[in-house]
Formats: sequence, structure tokens, C-alpha cells
Amino acid sequence: MKRIGIIIIGLFFLFACFGQQDSTTFNDTSDFIESSQKVKNIILMIGDGMGVTQIYAGITVNKSPLNIEKIKNIGFAKTYSASDYITDSGASGTAIATGHKTYNKAIGVDKDTVPVKSILEYAEDHGKATGLVATSYVTHATPASFISHQANRHDYEDIAADFLKTDIEVFIGGGLKHFNQRKDNLDMTEQLKENGYDVIMNRDSIPISNSDKIAGLIYKGHPPKYTKGRDEMLQICSLKAIETLNRNNNGFFLMIEASEIDWGGHDNDTEYIVDELLDFDRVVGKVLDFAEKDGNTLVIITADHETGGMGLNGGDIAKGKINAKYTTSDHSGVMVPVFAFGPGSDNFRGIYENTELFIKMMNAFGFSED
Ligand SMILES: [Zn+2]
Repeated sequence: MKRIGIIIIGLFFLFACFGQQDSTTFNDTSDFIESSQKVKNIILMIGDGMGVTQIYAGITVNKSPLNIEKIKNIGFAKTYSASDYITDSGASGTAIATGHKTYNKAIGVDKDTVPVKSILEYAEDHGKATGLVATSYVTHATPASFISHQANRHDYEDIAADFLKTDIEVFIGGGLKHFNQRKDNLDMTEQLKENGYDVIMNRDSIPISNSDKIAGLIYKGHPPKYTKGRDEMLQICSLKAIETLNRNNNGFFLMIEASEIDWGGHDNDTEYIVDELLDFDRVVGKVLDFAEKDGNTLVIITADHETGGMGLNGGDIAKGKINAKYTTSDHSGVMVPVFAFGPGSDNFRGIYENTELFIKMMNAFGFSED
């Protein structure tokens, strides 16, 4: 009888210690800090056209784990726009940046072409430093969605003019011609200099700039492919942007875009996609290193949509070989993954609208909408 009593007490003790764990809440506490904690910095990384398939293609070809695999808090975002089941980068970039579903080709305006404020502009209002880095024109749809307000994404010169209306600290990419080879004959690089920017027109000068304001227009048009001369531009420029913005004691907001995963998708070019994806993942590794050391930085990695309707019909994990097939040379309508690391990153789990990313970033900063 006494023995049965001891066994029951023993079992009760075991249950008290181990039985209560709720397996649905978190699967790894390493990067989970109180989800209501306000963050100092947000680094938003967008792989343009990067679906789950593009990521797994990179994992296979790389034959060793990618940096993105380190992240435990993962969700999915729905990408349809206000005008189409299949979005473009303007509508999805605007949805992520402002929280508004809008029509394809819109930049920073709602479906009635009314300008809507972006997370970058809110960060500026709150005294944070802000930045944009892209492997496309800085005036291209995704970066433009965070700083410009135009009815049509192809009005590049108007978008360029909008860069002078927001006190952004750092912007780096291509598209110099939209600033100094303009129909209105204005040379906006002069105005940028007057506004205190270090206007840099070649990549090698970026790392040596000591300015707190950098206008890096390092390609006249679009940057070339990673394998065709762009090399580590995205990494070098992203690290420079972080170094520069991190001097601001109030913190910063930075958007980094790998633009050309999308172009590989449009070309149904598997090698192009994988090269650009692996370049992006190396930058992810550097950004995670920074965030891990800093402790007050929320890193969000996602896509604006998937491109190519890419499928993996075969492969060899040991040899790092894949056999990819495509259903379109345009974007597709699938949900895109969201990876989040750092304070409050658990708030990015689940399935939600791409517009929710804006709200989650506003909450992370502790900002309320005007
Ligand atoms: Zn595209």
C-alpha cells in the first residue's frame, strides 16, 4: 500500500515538472524573447520572386545548410493584390510597406491612387535612420514602394524625385540615369549633394565613405547578374548601410532586396535563380550575425511573390542536382514564406495577408498609425 502511495506521488511530481509543456506555442526558445518587446532596429529582406521552391533549389544545389535554415519562426503571407490574383512587385511592395492592398503597378498609393504612408516614412518621423539597398534600380518597384508615391511604377523619373522628399539616410543600387539623365534636364545628383549626401557612383567607393548620408547610384541602369560582374555588391552595400544607420541611437529601418531572383524566374533560368538566391542567403548570414550580436534587431525575410511557378520534378541531394520545371514566365499566386529572427519574431508565425507585415513591423517599433 505504502509503495503504491510513493509511486503515485512520484508520478504527480513528474507531471508537475514535465507534463505541462504546450508544444504548440514554441519549438525553439533560442530567438524567442518576450513578443511584446519593442525593437530598436528592423531589417526587412525581400527576395523578389522567391518562393519556397526557389529556396529549396538553393538548399539542394548548395549541398550544405543555408543561413536561412537557422531561423525557427516561420509564417506565410498571401500576395494577391486589389486588382489581381497574381500581383506585381509594385502592389505587393506597397502592401508590405504601407499595409494597403492596391492595384498592380501602383507605388505607395492605395487603390484610389491616394498616397499612403510607409513604414520607412514612419521610422523617419520617429527619428530613426532609414535605408534601402537593391540589386535593381533604386527607383524600381520594390524599393520605390517604401519611399515614393506614384500611380505607375514606370514613372521612374518621378519616383527618383520622390527620394528628395524623404530624409532617407542611405540608398544604394542602380538607376543613376533616372537622377541625372532626365527629360527635365535636371541633375538631381547636385541636389542630393546640397542635401548633404555623399553621392557615390562606383561600388568600390561605398565601403570607404564616412558620411551619415549615402546616395549610392552605382549603376546607370540595372546592376548586372551576380555571375556577370556584380559579385558581392549586395553584401558590401548592405553591410555599409547597417554600419552607417547603426550610428543613429534611435535605431533604424533598412530594406534589402535581392531583385534578380525574379528575373531568373521570368527567364525560367534555374542557374540564374539559384545563383541569385545563394548570393541573397550569404547576405542573410551577415545580417543574422549582426542581429545576434546586437540583440535589439528584428530581421524579417520574405518575398513579394513567387516567379515562374517553379517546380522541382527531380534532383539528387548528394550531387546537388535539380530538375526544375516552370508553369509560367510570369509571377504565380502562391503564398510566400516569412522568416523572422530576433525580439518579437514569434509574431510572424501563421498565415496572413502581406499587408499584415506592415502592421507587425509598426507594432514591433511601437508606432501607431497617423
Ligand atoms: Zn517580376
